[in-house]
Amino acid sequence: MSIQTINPTTNQVIRSFDEMSDDAVFTAVTQAAEAYNSWRHTSYVHRAKLLHQVAVLMRAKKEALAKLITLEMGKLFSQAEGEITLSADIIDYYADNGATFLADKHLEPKFGAAFIRHSPIGVLLGVEPWNFPFYQVARFAAPNIMIGNTVLVKHASNVPQCALAIEELFNEAKAPAGVYTNLFISGKRASALVADERIKGVSLTGSEAAGASLAAEAGKYLKKSVLELGGSDAFIILEDADIDKTVDWAVVGRMNNNGECCVAAKRFIAVEAIADEFIKKFTDKLSKLKVGDPMDPLTELGPLCNEAAAVQIADQVNRSVAAGARVLLGGNRVKREGAFMEPTILTDLHPAIPAYREELFGPVASFYRVKDEQAAITLANDSDFGLGGSVFTSDIERGKRVADQIDTGMVFINHPTWTQADLPFGGTKGSGYGRELSELGIDEFVNKKLIRTSALSDPF
Ligand code: NAP
Repeated sequence: MSIQTINPTTNQVIRSFDEMSDDAVFTAVTQAAEAYNSWRHTSYVHRAKLLHQVAVLMRAKKEALAKLITLEMGKLFSQAEGEITLSADIIDYYADNGATFLADKHLEPKFGAAFIRHSPIGVLLGVEPWNFPFYQVARFAAPNIMIGNTVLVKHASNVPQCALAIEELFNEAKAPAGVYTNLFISGKRASALVADERIKGVSLTGSEAAGASLAAEAGKYLKKSVLELGGSDAFIILEDADIDKTVDWAVVGRMNNNGECCVAAKRFIAVEAIADEFIKKFTDKLSKLKVGDPMDPLTELGPLCNEAAAVQIADQVNRSVAAGARVLLGGNRVKREGAFMEPTILTDLHPAIPAYREELFGPVASFYRVKDEQAAITLANDSDFGLGGSVFTSDIERGKRVADQIDTGMVFINHPTWTQADLPFGGTKGSGYGRELSELGIDEFVNKKLIRTSALSDPF
C-alpha cells in the first residue's frame, strides 16, 4: 500500500511516506500502554489544559492546516478553514465539559447507597477517513483523552501530512509521549492490530467493508467497537416547503465538501405537488456551479479526493444509466486535469438501478418524485443506510411527525444533516452503531463502574 499526498486538483504525487515496521508499531503500542498507566491518574483539569492548548495551536495554524487539507483531499479552502475551527471547537468542548459529563452519577437504590464512577479503559485504536481529516480525529481523540484513555490513530493513507500535523499539535502542546500517536499502517494491519491485548477498544469511521472487517476482529477478541459508516440521506421536500430556501439548502446539502460527506443529502425526494418547481430550480443552480481549483475563492465545486474516487462515481453513473436511469444534468468527468466530476442529477431510479442503493460519494444527486408524504417516508426508509436525513416543510410539527418515522440516527427539519460539538452524531442499520460528539460521545469507551455500599445487615 502507499501512503502518499497526491494533489487531486492535478493528480501529481507530492510526497510519499514509508509504512511503519511491525517493530515500530509494537513500540508505539507499548508507549501508549505505558502512557495510559500515568495518564489515567491525571486530573480532569490537567487533561483539559492539554486539550485547550491543542485547540489554541490549531486555531493559530488555521491557514497552514487548512492548506494541507485542500492539498491532500481537495476540499474548498474556505471549507477547510471551517473544518479547523470546528475541530478546535470540539476539542475545547470536551475540555470544558468533560469533567461534568464524567462526574460520579449518584443512584437511589432501594437500600444502601450507590454511584456510577466513570473510569478510562485503556489504549484505543481509531481508524479515520480522509473526508474531514481533522474533524474526524478531533471527535474521536478529544473525548477519549479527556476520559484518561490514550489513543492510536490510523488515518487514511491519502492524508498523511494531515495525520502528522495532528500528532505534531499534540507534541507541541506537550502531551506525554504515547497519549496521542499516529500510525502509518494499512487498513488490513489496523484490523490485525485489534488482537493486541493492550488495545481495549476500536472506533472506525469509513466504509461498511472496513467497518465490518475491524468490527469482526473486535468481536473475536471481545472488544468494544464504535462504527460510523456510510450514508444515503434522504432530503424530503413537502408541498408546504419554502422552495427557494429549500433549493439553496439542497445545493449545500449535496455539494458541501465536494459531495464527499457521509451525511450529504444524496436522495432528493419531492412530493408531486412541488416536484417540478423544485427540480427545475435545483438543476438550474447546480448547472451554474463554478468547478475548479479548490484554492480559488471563487470555486464552488472542487475535485474528488483522488482519481480512483472520480473513476468510481463516474462508473456508478454509467452503470445506472445503462440500467435505465436518466441524466438530468452532467453525468461526465470534467474535461480537465485532476479528479473532477460534473455536478450531476440522476432520475427515473428504481431498486434495480445501482444509484438507488449504492452510496453516491461525490457531486451526484438522485431525484425522486412521489405521490405524497407517506410515499416519501417509505422511499426514504428503503435504504440499507440509516445515518441522517432532512425534511423541508413550513409546518414544524408536521416535520417532527415525519422525522419520527424516518429510520436513521439523525433527522434535521429545514436544514441538511450537519454537525456541531454539542449534538450527537451517528447512525443505525448499515451506517453503524455508537455515537460521537455531545455527552453521548464521551460515553462509549468508559467503564461505568457501579460502586455500592451496604450495611452488613442489608438483605441479600
Ligand atoms: P474506507 O476505505 O473505509 O477508509 C476509511 C479508513 O478505514 C481509512 O483509514 C482506511 O485506510 C481504513 N481501512 C480500509 N480498509 C480497512 C480494513 N479492512 N480494516 C481496517 N481499516 C480499514 O472509507 P473511505 O472510502 O476512505 O471513506 C468514505 C466512507 O466513509 C464513506 O462511506 C462515508 O460515508 C464514510 N464516512 C462516514 C462518516 C460517519 O460519521 N458516519 C464520516 C465520514 C465518512 P486506508 O486509507 O489506508 O485504506
